[in-house]
Amino acid sequence: MTTRKEFCKSCLAAMLAGLTAPLLAGRREEEVKAKARKEEKKIIGACGIVCSDCPAYVATKTDDDGLRAKTATEWSAMYHADIKPQDINCDGCPSAGPRLFAHCLECEIRACAHGRKLVTCAECSDYACQKLKEFFAMVPQAQQTLEGLRRQ
Ligand code: SF4
Ligand code: SF4
Repeated sequence: MTTRKEFCKSCLAAMLAGLTAPLLAGRREEEVKAKARKEEKKIIGACGIVCSDCPAYVATKTDDDGLRAKTATEWSAMYHADIKPQDINCDGCPSAGPRLFAHCLECEIRACAHGRKLVTCAECSDYACQKLKEFFAMVPQAQQTLEGLRRQ
């Protein structure tokens, strides 16, 4: 038989759950909405790279010279090239330019998709072509992003 103490404890627990559930539900709802807003603003390159997460894009949009310098150092090492902070300016792959990072300006995948009047390769009837498969092997996250777009 349930003692009075146990009964009161379970009542209190139920009451607290009842009080906090709407608060938690509200917080979760806000989190979901914030995530959706972020998703809406996502700028995705032809190949599936998320340009709005790219440091070159962020540095350009926030005019952050510190981030330009940091990115130039990191990318110089990564690409074995002499990339200067002033080279770190980019409005993202879907933009017509003129501010586009040199590597992306010369990107064959971007040129191919834009030549077909597509924003991303996810819309292409030849998805995923050999060129794109080779890129996916190096950047698997880009594949996940494009697969996500294709499911929408
Ligand atoms: S196009 Fe620009 S923003 Fe997009 S990945 Fe390339 S450098 Fe970054
Ligand atoms: S052919 Fe390949 S690179 Fe060109 S748009 Fe289609 S999937 Fe992209």
